Amino acid sequence: MQSGRIEPQAQHRSPLARLETMGLDPGVYTGHAMGCLFCKIVDKQIPSTAVYEDELAYAFADINPKAPVHILIVPREHFDSLSEAGKDEQELLGHLLWAAAEIAREKNLANGYRIVVNTGADGGQTVDHLHLHLLGGRALTWPPG
Ligand code: AMP
Ligand code: ZN
Repeated sequence: MQSGRIEPQAQHRSPLARLETMGLDPGVYTGHAMGCLFCKIVDKQIPSTAVYEDELAYAFADINPKAPVHILIVPREHFDSLSEAGKDEQELLGHLLWAAAEIAREKNLANGYRIVVNTGADGGQTVDHLHLHLLGGRALTWPPG
């Protein structure tokens, strides 16, 4: 009897590949967008310098820092931008802001810092996965460009 036996091939398929085999869209079923840079960073498919992580959020060093401290805080779940986050995301949004403040405390930014959420084309957003910038370690000018 072979009941309960897992096909060798299936054993070696990734969970995403198995979803695809079942005719399901992995992007939908994991809350991740296919081809999204920050989803890949959250999944550790692309390396990053982790600063903080929990069940909802992941924070990592910006690859092109604009200040001595420049950290990106992203939800594990994919949202294109702040515009895409609805009422159901209020708690998540608060959590991201709390995480940013927690990291600022950890980084001893007692002199102050700035949280930025570039949104959409006019907002200067270049990566379409909601993210908070935490900038600090120097006096920042205002207004932004
Ligand atoms: P925004 O322009 O607000 O969408 O911010 C996107 C940020 O992502 C920029 O500050 C980039 O420097 C940063 N970035 C892009 N690729 C990476 C990466 N692979 N690792 C870390 N940060 C990145
Ligand atoms: Zn994403």
